[in-house]
Amino acid sequence: MRERFYTRVADTLEQIRNDGLEKPERIMQAAQGAETQVGEAGNPRRVINFCANNYLGLAGDPRVVAAGNKAAETWGAGLASVRFICGTQAIHKQLEAEIAGYLGKEDAILFAAAFDANGGVFEPLLGENDAIVSDSLNHASLIDGIRLCKARRYRYANGDMAELEAMLKQARAEGAETVLIATDGVFSMDGHIAPLDRVCALADQYDALVLVDDCHATGLIGPGGRGSAAFRGCEARIDIVTGTFGKALGGAMGGFVAARAEVVALLRQRARPYLFSNALAPSVCGASLEAIAIARSAEGEQRREQLRANAARFRNGMAAAGFTLIPGEHPIVPVMLGDARLAQDMAAALLDDGVFVTGFSYPVVPLGKARIRTQLSAAHTAEQIDEAVAAFTRVGRKLGVIA
Ligand SMILES: *Cc1c(COP(=O)(O)O)cnc(C)c1O
Repeated sequence: MRERFYTRVADTLEQIRNDGLEKPERIMQAAQGAETQVGEAGNPRRVINFCANNYLGLAGDPRVVAAGNKAAETWGAGLASVRFICGTQAIHKQLEAEIAGYLGKEDAILFAAAFDANGGVFEPLLGENDAIVSDSLNHASLIDGIRLCKARRYRYANGDMAELEAMLKQARAEGAETVLIATDGVFSMDGHIAPLDRVCALADQYDALVLVDDCHATGLIGPGGRGSAAFRGCEARIDIVTGTFGKALGGAMGGFVAARAEVVALLRQRARPYLFSNALAPSVCGASLEAIAIARSAEGEQRREQLRANAARFRNGMAAAGFTLIPGEHPIVPVMLGDARLAQDMAAALLDDGVFVTGFSYPVVPLGKARIRTQLSAAHTAEQIDEAVAAFTRVGRKLGVIA
C-alpha cells in the first residue's frame, strides 16, 4: 500500500513535467537586487533581475540590511515563542504601530506571512450567518482563508462590478447579517489595480465591509505609496487591509492585518496563525521598520517616481518590439505567450541571455494563458531595461513569438 502511494506521487510529478508545468528553482548565489547571480556555486551567471517583488529596490539596501542586523544584535535571533506567551518585544509593537500609522488604520497585527494573515483573518470575524463576496482572481491565501471560515461564500468574475452587485443583492436576500467584500488591491498575475472606488460605492449601497489584500501595492501604489485604495481615492472606506513586508517594504517576510482597534484586538485572541505560530524574528521587524521609514520619506516618493518611469520605459520598448502585454499602470508587466512550454523555454533562453525572468503557467494562471510576468524595480537602470528589451527581442524572434 505504501509503495502505491509513492508511485502515485512520482506519477503526478511526471505528469507535471510532461505538461510543461514544472516550476524549477533557479539557485541564486548573491543577494536580491536589480542584478544578481544565478547558477552553480563556482560558476554563476550575472543576470538582470526582472522577476522580484523588489519594487522599491530596498531588498538589498545597506540601510535595511544594517537595521535588520542591529535588531538581531539588540533583540536576539528569534523569540522561540508565539506572541502571547513570551514572544512580544517592543520592536513588534513598534512595527505594528508603524504599519498601522502608514496605512491610516487604528492598529495592526503581525503574522509570519501575508499568507497567514489572509488565512487567519476571516474565521474569527465572520460566522455562518455572515457572507463573504470575493473576486474570482483573488490570491490563493484569501481563497484558503475564506474556506476556513463558516460564512457563506459568493464569487464575482474578476473586476465585474455588475456581478459584484448581483452577489451583494443575493447575499442580502439570503439574509446575511454581515457582508464582507474581499479583493486583492492589485491582481498579481495581471498587474490590474482593483476598481476599489466602485467596490466601495457598492459596499456603501449594500452596507458591506471591505477587505483589501494590498501585497502588491503597499509602499508603491497611490499617494505616499499607501496602496490601491489611496490610488482610487477611497482609503478611509476600507475596513481591513492585509499586506506583506516581503515585497516592496524590504522584502524580508512577514504579513499584517491593519484595521479598527477592536478588530485587531479580536484577531489577537482568535486568529489561529497568530496564536499557534512563532513571533516574527527581530531582524525581520528591524529591516521592515527601516524599509517603511524609507517608503514614507521624500526618498520613497523619488523611488516610486523612478519605478513608474522604469515601468513605462520597459512597456514602451516591449510594445515597440511587438510583444503582447497586458496593459496597465503597475510595474507588473505580463508578457503573454499562451503555451506553458513556450513560457518555460523562453524564460530559460532569457536566463542564458542574462535576463532573469520566470514563466507562469497553470495553476498559477488559467490554462492556456501562460506568460512571463516581468516586474520592474526602482533599482533598475535605463541601461538594464534596454538590455532586457534587447534580450527579449532576440529570444522572442528565435522562438517565433515576434516577427
Ligand atoms: C505575495 C502575496 C501574498 C503572500 O504574501 P507573503 O507575505 O509572501 O505570504 C498574499 N496575497 C497577495 C495578493 C500576494 O501577492
